[in-house]
Amino acid sequence: MPIGFIPPSGQNTNIKTETGASRSELDNLQDRFEKLKLVTMAMWTYLKEQRGLTEENLVQRVKEIDMLDGSADGKLKLGVKKCAKCNRSLNPKFEKCQYCGEVNTPGSIFETF
Ligand SMILES: [Zn+2]
Repeated sequence: MPIGFIPPSGQNTNIKTETGASRSELDNLQDRFEKLKLVTMAMWTYLKEQRGLTEENLVQRVKEIDMLDGSADGKLKLGVKKCAKCNRSLNPKFEKCQYCGEVNTPGSIFETF
């Protein structure tokens, strides 16, 4: 099989890619990405219709959000949050600090994943 060849879905699902991810993992990510794109587009078209927004409004907002991490690179990489009580790094999957048990309420739902 040539390097970089990706078999059709449903075949050879345990083949590892150069990054070590299996085809089934990539298929799962692809499915989740397509679903996220669908929901995002539904939300956008709803807002566009209800609020009279334009594609330029959306592009401008994307640029503003992109700069929240200090880099206009088309990605949003928020830094690791610190516990308000012990100042250790927080795991975004848990509401409580793993070290001291302090409950740290996220400022945004986007800080939870
Ligand atoms: Zn803590």
